[in-house]
Amino acid sequence: MNLAHLLDSSLARFPAKVVYEGDGRSFTYAQLAGLSENLAAALACEGFAAGARVAVLLPNLPEYALAMHALWRLGAEPVLINPQLTGRELGYILHDSEAAAILLPEALLPVLAPLRAELPGLRAIVIGSGAENDLDFARLVATPGHYPIAHRHEDDIAQIMYTSGTTGNPKGALISHGNLLANARSGIERLQVTEADHLFCILPVFHAFAFTAAMVIIPLVGGTVSFEYRLSPKRLIAHLSDPRTSILVAVPSLLATILRFPPELRLSSNLRCILCGGGPLPPQLEQAFAERFGDLVRQGYGMTECSPYAALSPPERPARLGSIGTPMPQEHKLAVRDPVSGAFLAAGAVGELVVSGPHVFKGYLNQPAATADAFADGWLRTGDLGYCDEDGYFFIVDRLKDMIIVAGEKVYSREVEDVLLGFEPIREVAVVGIPDTDKGEVVRAFVSFKEGTQASEEQIVQYARARLAAVKVPKQVTIMDELPKSATGKILKRELRKMPTA
Ligand code: ATP
Ligand code: MG
Repeated sequence: MNLAHLLDSSLARFPAKVVYEGDGRSFTYAQLAGLSENLAAALACEGFAAGARVAVLLPNLPEYALAMHALWRLGAEPVLINPQLTGRELGYILHDSEAAAILLPEALLPVLAPLRAELPGLRAIVIGSGAENDLDFARLVATPGHYPIAHRHEDDIAQIMYTSGTTGNPKGALISHGNLLANARSGIERLQVTEADHLFCILPVFHAFAFTAAMVIIPLVGGTVSFEYRLSPKRLIAHLSDPRTSILVAVPSLLATILRFPPELRLSSNLRCILCGGGPLPPQLEQAFAERFGDLVRQGYGMTECSPYAALSPPERPARLGSIGTPMPQEHKLAVRDPVSGAFLAAGAVGELVVSGPHVFKGYLNQPAATADAFADGWLRTGDLGYCDEDGYFFIVDRLKDMIIVAGEKVYSREVEDVLLGFEPIREVAVVGIPDTDKGEVVRAFVSFKEGTQASEEQIVQYARARLAAVKVPKQVTIMDELPKSATGKILKRELRKMPTA
């Protein structure tokens, strides 16, 4: 089976049920199947065939699903791109992926304009009105056509997804049809997703955490997805209190946003699960959320390279505070290894998390060295440090690249961050290592404050000193209005490391 057959069972069971809605439009399963076949046939007439790379630069709109199904039917390889990228970053991905075309809304044409001269072969497929030679998405979709599903094997590439670029340049992860289907099936079992589920998806779909949930899990079981791309409190509150909403996929910063909403906010009484992953979830935030809204948050862990879920808190209650849960079911393996010797470690010992199973990607596009480095004897190296407790629950302590070595002692940036977040005025914090002639590295903290609050650098250091060993206490604290973040809300430590020291 490949992803072009994803809709088969739900289409047979619920042809008239809405599968995607958003921006005032909706598609039923039958409409999605019919319109995406029109689009595939029209794109084939325009010369696109199996293996063609087509960049998708769309916000969360129902058309996203039309495009994916059309491209899968053709056997093409969608290249998913963050619609917030600037010209230079977008140019990097378009060159790297050698995309033959780019699908985008009219509003994003100005971002593409300066790149057109350097990419003369790139065709634009525009939602709205484009330039003279651009293809009109609405016309392609509306032209009745038939196109047989291209023969694609499980190991063939279903899409190219760029990593978040938190630790360096984004890398194009080659994700196969089998990768996504296996991870989705495992997710369905772990989250017990059924056709009754209604997913509210505000997390951008180009990111793996939202993609597998919204584009694979939900249509596979016959559920419904509401897309939203405007992060306005009004829209967010409307969706969260919509009585149909049963699942939300979130990143930690979204939970923090929801917690700041007025106390009158009532979440949908059908909301049964908030899947939260993609970055460290501070235990204070997890606890505060549970105190206000009940036991809804299920922490998950994954990465683009695992399509993406590697661990998720199991349905058996209670969830363990701070834990990313247990390895996903169905042949999805997660283990802890010594990052140097490769030895598998026993419960309690901190090492690098490694992953194996049918969800592990096929390698990075154009990066044989990075691909080789990503694997060690068949296991994917996650670059994340963590441990497994006696009961099989996993915990992340830091990224390997974020660990700080102070006078030969390991300091996990995450531990210092979690402690500082307990200091009332602090809203966000990031801790990095900075070079020091005596100690090799010392700890530097960047903080921002909650609205209307303040503290001095000295008070912050004192707070840390009362709770942490001396090597972990920040030697320097820098106060900022807002910390630099990626599109999915991850704090960009590589930017902070470049900031001049005081
Ligand atoms: P890049 O690989 O380009 O540097 P990235 O690793 O941030 O970017 P993603 O694939 O989007 O790109 O994110 C995966 C990473 O996110 C994981 O390797 C891990 O560091 C972090 N992460 C995901 N879920 C969690 C979690 N629950 N707790 C802590 N960290 C998490
Ligand atoms: Mg990564």
